Amino acid sequence: MYSVRLWAVRHARLLELTYRAFEPVIVKLHPLWKAVGYQRAEKPVGKLEELSKGLLFDCKMCGQCILSSTGMSCSMNCPKTMRNGPCGGVLQNGNCEVYPEKRCVWVEAWEGSQKMKGGDKIQVVQLPVDHRLEGSSSWLRVAREASEQQAVQKGGSQ
Ligand code: SF4
Repeated sequence: MYSVRLWAVRHARLLELTYRAFEPVIVKLHPLWKAVGYQRAEKPVGKLEELSKGLLFDCKMCGQCILSSTGMSCSMNCPKTMRNGPCGGVLQNGNCEVYPEKRCVWVEAWEGSQKMKGGDKIQVVQLPVDHRLEGSSSWLRVAREASEQQAVQKGGSQ
């Protein structure tokens, strides 16, 4: 919902803190995801992610979430789906040239990022969207990648 999306950007710091508390929990649950099977966990976890992030951010389930780098404004809501923005068409009032009644997703991203502790991450150039990941859970991907990284670090320290 558009108004909730704008609310999320206004409360980007609160949501950043919430995610920072949530991420380690998802990562710690790696043994559970492994026991169930990451593939099998996709359906329920992905559904939960879709519902919660859909409500808060109008999430499109791109599978490679960058909300913490974009001020809690989902770049997939940009009508040009720009992963690095804004484009050159932002109106003088900060609205979108495609939907002039709406704020530019990237103007929102900048404003949200200024409220966040990790707000400088907006300066990082994002990779193009990998469409093979569409519809998959970013949460599970974070858990899997973090556990793989931990395993590599453990292996390296032995
Ligand atoms: S960046 Fe991707 S996963 Fe994150 S809210 Fe937007 S569509 Fe959803």
